[in-house]
Amino acid sequence: MIASIQKINTAIQHLLYPHFCSGCGVDFISTKEFLCAKCCSSLPVTQFSHIPFNPIEKIFIGRVPVHAAGSIYYFTKSSLLQHLLVQLKYNNNKEAGFFLGRQLGILLKATDRFNSIDCIVPLPLHPKKQYQRGYNQVDLIGDGMAAVWPKKLLKEAVSRKIYTKTQTQESRISRWENMEGAFEVREPNSLRDKHVLLIDDVITTGASLEACGTAILAVPGTRLSIATVAYTI
Ligand SMILES: [Zn+2]
Repeated sequence: MIASIQKINTAIQHLLYPHFCSGCGVDFISTKEFLCAKCCSSLPVTQFSHIPFNPIEKIFIGRVPVHAAGSIYYFTKSSLLQHLLVQLKYNNNKEAGFFLGRQLGILLKATDRFNSIDCIVPLPLHPKKQYQRGYNQVDLIGDGMAAVWPKKLLKEAVSRKIYTKTQTQESRISRWENMEGAFEVREPNSLRDKHVLLIDDVITTGASLEACGTAILAVPGTRLSIATVAYTI
């Protein structure tokens, strides 16, 4: 009898407050989850962030000293992950950012190599770009991470002072030439003697992360780690 009443109650709740999976659109009962279990398990997890010299760390060898680096998902075109990243970057989908950040936070929290992180710094956008977009999508990822991993989130510690256009057609060397000196630490005291985790949505060449990481490491006593939601092979 009680079970039946609970079932009816759940059905009424479902009718009043329907909830759809943001991946496949299936209507499911849980009002908390962003993706259904099937979509969640379909995201391609890299499973290498706990391993030294993983593909993300190799990107930075000889460029900037990194304590640890990792990514949670492989980026593939026309995938659910690409859909979520587009939602996050261009449609101000805070839920997508929070979900992806939460997933990344849960992963790193369980990975010993990131235990000594003191604070999280989202890769900043240039103020002009942030004004045009209305927000920095990486801040939203940081919000999700900080919700599951008790680390200080410093959204204002670093700023981007050089406006760069989309660099997809440029070589790695010219990207670096464009990025060198592009970032400035605005709050050195908040980073001094800290192990800083610099985060971004997607890593390709790592030029922006390298330039921003170099600026962070100029603050005395800092150590640098890097994490992104997606890794483009
Ligand atoms: Zn789904």
